[in-house]
Amino acid sequence: MKEMYARLGVSEEIYRCGEEVLQSLKERFAAMDAVAEYNQGKVLAAMQKNRVAANCFAATTGYGYDDVGRDNLERVYSDTFHTEAALVRPQITCGTHALTVALSANLLPGDELLSPVGAPYDTLEEVIGIRDSVCSLKEYGVSYRQADLTADGSIDYAAIRACVNEKTKMATIQRSKGYATRPTFSVKQIGELIAFLKELKPDIICMVDNCYGEFVETIEPSDVGADLVVGSLIKNPGGGLAPIGGYICGKKQYVERCAYRLSAPGLGQEVGANLGLMPSFYQGFFLAPTVVASALKGAVFAANLYERLGFRVIPNSTESRHDIIQAVELGSREAMVAFCKGIQMAAPVDSYVDPLPWAMPGYEDEVIMAAGAFVQGSSIELSADGPIRPPYAVYFQGGLTWYHAKLGILLSLQKLYDAGLATL
Ligand SMILES: *Cc1c(COP(=O)(O)O)cnc(C)c1O
Repeated sequence: MKEMYARLGVSEEIYRCGEEVLQSLKERFAAMDAVAEYNQGKVLAAMQKNRVAANCFAATTGYGYDDVGRDNLERVYSDTFHTEAALVRPQITCGTHALTVALSANLLPGDELLSPVGAPYDTLEEVIGIRDSVCSLKEYGVSYRQADLTADGSIDYAAIRACVNEKTKMATIQRSKGYATRPTFSVKQIGELIAFLKELKPDIICMVDNCYGEFVETIEPSDVGADLVVGSLIKNPGGGLAPIGGYICGKKQYVERCAYRLSAPGLGQEVGANLGLMPSFYQGFFLAPTVVASALKGAVFAANLYERLGFRVIPNSTESRHDIIQAVELGSREAMVAFCKGIQMAAPVDSYVDPLPWAMPGYEDEVIMAAGAFVQGSSIELSADGPIRPPYAVYFQGGLTWYHAKLGILLSLQKLYDAGLATL
């Protein structure tokens, strides 16, 4: 084994360091496998209930009327997430798009959007109009308020109470930390927050940005009162196989509006050809629970390895997990670049290229991204990225297999070690 790792670029001392850390993780890995086993059952039961069959995999083109595979996949998602309705489409180009559709479909001029969990994900700033942007919700007369988290990253209920007013129509609750160093919220915490919001204002629409959270726990935000849950298919639920797409699951009245916003008023969910993508959507969803467990193992391994070497890691080595993201604070631009080089070097695709920081659309700061992925930008595949700004944290995620995640983490450390930026 050592020889194999040497061939892949991992020195003996780095390999040994990794093995020592792994010794302590057996129980945690077993717990993750148990969650995957449960979620595998959930997905399978939904596929069996909806009688998934070969005719679901046929390609449709043009308008896509009577698309059996597409409509049935949406029922499979509904049943898995325990919602009334679902919109699962390749026409949803990414997570930001799915969130934009959900927000703009359900907010009208004069309405206010509330984020009760502090600043939203970077790309949402332009969607909402926190940073001025053409076609933002702000431009269409939708206002925005934000209740910041407390200094320790917990939900500030008093601040939320002060924000809710007669205009508050919808709340956007981001489960994952995104590019922040706050904690990710558990599904249980999200449920408590939703209950609080509904008590303040019973008709408030609670949308959860579920990106990176799917299948990490045995329940989802839709099990604890969320009216809409939204995510990307090139993250967890696509299982690494979906080459594009997003989903919106939730109450029928809100999902229907999303369908009209995505296509056109009057057309809604009836149009949207599947273009031959159904096999990868179904099979990816089937694989998603075990893929998520692999990614989670990578995250926990990285936390334990880097914490041991003296880096601040979020979540820390022992915390329970609510998404697949692992942040490691590296303290400098050079260390971020070295870490990302190691991840890139581990990739099956583009392993020979060097990642560099660039001004990526939608982000205010320069961003560095390491991703040698089969699907461009897919972050359920082994990837690391982060905005070049203090505290110079890289956000590490993914790994379609645990072994690949392990190699990537070992190589990231190898690069830091070789550059003199980490000591064992
Ligand atoms: C990835 C992500 C998004 C946006 O998804 P894209 O597919 O990159 O547009 C939104 N919110 C969170 C929390 C995310 O992690």
